[in-house]
Amino acid sequence: MSLASPDQNKSYWSLTSAIWLLLIAAMFATAVLTQRSLARLGDSREVKTHSLLVNKALNDLMNQLLDAETGQRGFLLSGRAPYLQPYYTALTQMRASRAALGVALSQDPSAVAPLGVLDKAIAAKLQDLDRIVKLKSEGRSNEAVELILTDTDNQTMNAVRAAWRGLGTDQAHRTSQLEAEIEQEIKKYYLTLGVSILVNLLLLAGLVQRFRNAAIQKDAAQQEMDQRNVELSRLLAAAATRNEQVHGLSELSRFLQSCADLEEAAGLLKQHLPPLMRAASGALYLAAAGHDPLRQAFTWGDKSFVESFEPSECWAARLRQPFRQPFETGSASCAHLQSEYASAHNNNNIQCLPLMAYGELLGVVVLEADAASDAQESLESEGSRRFALEQVGFSIGNLKLRESLRQAAIRDVLTGLYNRRFFDESSQREMMRAVRQQTKGDYAGLALMMIDIDHFKRFNDTHGHEVGDQVLREVAQVLQSQTRGSDVAARYGGEEFTIVLADITDQLAFERAELVRQKVEQLVLHASGKDVMTVTISIGLAQFPTHGTTVDALLLAADKALYEAKSAGRNRVVVAS
Ligand code: GH3
Ligand code: MG
Ligand code: MG
Repeated sequence: MSLASPDQNKSYWSLTSAIWLLLIAAMFATAVLTQRSLARLGDSREVKTHSLLVNKALNDLMNQLLDAETGQRGFLLSGRAPYLQPYYTALTQMRASRAALGVALSQDPSAVAPLGVLDKAIAAKLQDLDRIVKLKSEGRSNEAVELILTDTDNQTMNAVRAAWRGLGTDQAHRTSQLEAEIEQEIKKYYLTLGVSILVNLLLLAGLVQRFRNAAIQKDAAQQEMDQRNVELSRLLAAAATRNEQVHGLSELSRFLQSCADLEEAAGLLKQHLPPLMRAASGALYLAAAGHDPLRQAFTWGDKSFVESFEPSECWAARLRQPFRQPFETGSASCAHLQSEYASAHNNNNIQCLPLMAYGELLGVVVLEADAASDAQESLESEGSRRFALEQVGFSIGNLKLRESLRQAAIRDVLTGLYNRRFFDESSQREMMRAVRQQTKGDYAGLALMMIDIDHFKRFNDTHGHEVGDQVLREVAQVLQSQTRGSDVAARYGGEEFTIVLADITDQLAFERAELVRQKVEQLVLHASGKDVMTVTISIGLAQFPTHGTTVDALLLAADKALYEAKSAGRNRVVVAS
């Protein structure tokens, strides 16, 4: 999941705001509707109260009229004045009740006419009652009784009843109509209120859902942010490690640049290469020259590796690219690993990496990698290994190039021995050393041999220059093999050679010269026609300080001795005299 874009955020907030506005509007509408329906409920109550008031006033009026009539009848029967008291009380109460009725019906124009009818009927009845009371008071009881017995009395009362009932029915009808109207209205309000509350709830639910979604999104965004932070830290750590490696590598390259030879370089690599390879075990194999076997320079870890192997035995050397051993050993895995790893190892973890420079194979690194914790790490390891090997290959390539340039400058091309220039320099150096040693009193000896091939011209003349060159090479090889590391064997010119022997006694020098002579004599050389040729040399031997204290003096003495050897019949060693 990805972080919301600004556009998504904007649309989220505009929709949320719209829901908010609708919710506020719906709440307002609900409040108004509630207030309206409450007000109508109040109206309905008022209508009921009003109807009760009218009914009470009407009933009071009727009861008081009946009380007045009862009082009048009591007075008529008894003729006693106190009986008139309820009659007058009822009349007074009737006025109050009539006033209350008037107030109750004052807002109702339709009540004016029926109320008028009732007033008239009551007035007529009261007039009857009053007339009978007056007759009785004047002692005209018979006339009063007769008046009651006439139908008029009954009729006025019936008129009152009719008007009273008419007004009551009118009011009841009107009240129930009003109540029905209000009830209808309240029902409508309740319905709208219900809908409004429902809308409120829906909007509220929508809002809550949006907030919850926003919270979930925020959580997801936070989680993603955390993940990114972790990834960033990992990258930073990887960059730091890589920086360290690059620094280590550049240091190593700098040291390798100043190494004198491959051996010294291998010593340095033994210390610095294993950590760069990030592997538990491994070995570096180096090739002396292009097609030579690859020899183990060093190993690390607890695994064992073969001492040497041919480049053809390794797929990385053949393909000139990294090669991961297949899971199962067999024809598809490197031959140099098969004997070592056939049973004990999981080949899948073993890799061979070629060490290359300028398109030339310099060596092979064999690694048994740790199980990488994840694919990313193994990819990084692989990347940094390749980078390290590129740099190391480049440095070793340079070293070899320098070495070969140096060799070209000091070696004779045909024989591979040191050249005349190198001889001049090194013989002077050896002489100075000998002089120093002699001064110090720990002089061990120095000898110089001047060697010339006997009748060399004949090889050229008989078999051609090619064979002459071959003879030169073969003799040079004997000279080389018969000298120690500290000796300097050089081609002095044409078919003449010199050997400077350091730290050697006169006797030993002679023996060595004699040995060299014999070894050359023993050489078996084949010319083109399969003739077996023999080659001999003559050697003039001069020693320091007996025959001279400078190189030139020794050379002259040795040359003289050589001349003597030639004169004496060749194939011999003559010590300068
Ligand atoms: P001696 O026993 O008196 O030394 O006889 P020699 O024939 O060896 O002596 P000489 O000095 O007369 O001949 C040396 C010859 O070596 C002359 C030259 O043609 C030959 N030579 C010198 N340099 C080379 C070389 O690089 N290759 C070949 N094939 N011949 C060379
Ligand atoms: Mg010669
Ligand atoms: Mg010669």
